[in-house]
Amino acid sequence: MRTTTAYGTRGSMTLVAGPIERRELRPRDVAVDVSHCGVCHSDLHAVHAHASSRADDLLVPGHEFVGTVTQIGALVAEFRVGDAVAVGNIVDSCGSCDMCRAGQENFCREFPTTTYGGRDRVDGTTTLGGFAREYVVDENFVYRRPTNLDPAAVAPLMCAGVTVWEPLRSHGVGPGSVVGVAGLGGLGHLAVKLARALGASVTVFTTSQQKADDARALGATDVIISTDRHAMAAARGRFDLIIDTISAPHAVEPYLDTIGLDGTLSVVGYLGEISVTALALLIGRKSLSSAGSGGRISTQELLDFCGEHDISADVEVLPSGQINTALERLARNDVRYRFVVDLSDLKNA
Ligand code: NAP
Ligand code: ZN
Ligand code: ZN
Repeated sequence: MRTTTAYGTRGSMTLVAGPIERRELRPRDVAVDVSHCGVCHSDLHAVHAHASSRADDLLVPGHEFVGTVTQIGALVAEFRVGDAVAVGNIVDSCGSCDMCRAGQENFCREFPTTTYGGRDRVDGTTTLGGFAREYVVDENFVYRRPTNLDPAAVAPLMCAGVTVWEPLRSHGVGPGSVVGVAGLGGLGHLAVKLARALGASVTVFTTSQQKADDARALGATDVIISTDRHAMAAARGRFDLIIDTISAPHAVEPYLDTIGLDGTLSVVGYLGEISVTALALLIGRKSLSSAGSGGRISTQELLDFCGEHDISADVEVLPSGQINTALERLARNDVRYRFVVDLSDLKNA
């Protein structure tokens, strides 16, 4: 085993730095020196769930990070020491089910191994996430990151970015598409940038009046305050696709009303129960959909697209010691538009 330093918790809402163990490299593993890791609302959900379960096992969150390869296993073919890389929220999958064969490792029938809180497929240990100085990972789940972009701003592409990228792509968004994005946070602001870059016109639905100017600066042509019933009613039937990134339980039918003929509402933010009548889908032959993270092919495709189109997240970078501040501010919806922690300031244990 090798030892590194990570921010983790045992059943409390506060992350504390301490030593953790990483495995020695397997033949196809690479060791990544982590420089930056984004703070996703899913990390906040995970810390909450962990604290409320009063678990005493160690949770190390963090699942969108960038860094540099420092060591490679004997059979690693794709990477060399010094390569600029990125890792997202999946670090392994079965590789043989229909989903994996289709390049959708994120939907693996055996459930993909998540970057933290997952079960390692070889030794059965619980994976520990990217709020750490080092991560050891199979090369199949390591990606080349564009080096023309700020690494800190690339990190959020690995979860927030790819989670909205897959539905934008699978629903064929391109020039002429009319896209709505509900919730302007980490996922939402990247959805706006990506949909614009694909050629769509984009409208942001937000509860935060004060984000309207930012939404336009990000590329939205229109902003709807979602609590304004008249504005919602006026948008009836307007959209081909809405990416709903809202992190809390909410009524989805008001958004379905704004979908046009054969359009889709893709709910990627709140993954609990939602309530919809079939009639709300019948009128206009609408679809309700969801998505989550990305397969290997589309993840690399996203990074390449972002490199070519100069797209990355709007980030506030904090020293790693302020990781709890990031979580607290995220909980208060006080973020423009993604916190990223700088882990290069952590010493290896
Ligand atoms: P975030 O930065 O906190 O953004 C969430 C946005 O939702 C907020 O900025 C806010 O936008 C809106 N919102 C929050 N509470 C609301 C409420 N009560 N009613 C209406 N709108 C509300 O979070 P994020 O990191 O983008 O993540 C968003 C959600 O996606 C989280 O639930 C996260 O767990 C989930 N997620 C899912 C996947 C997946 O695989 N499907 C991947 C990553 C994240 P406005 O201020 O504009 O209203
Ligand atoms: Zn995430
Ligand atoms: Zn599989």
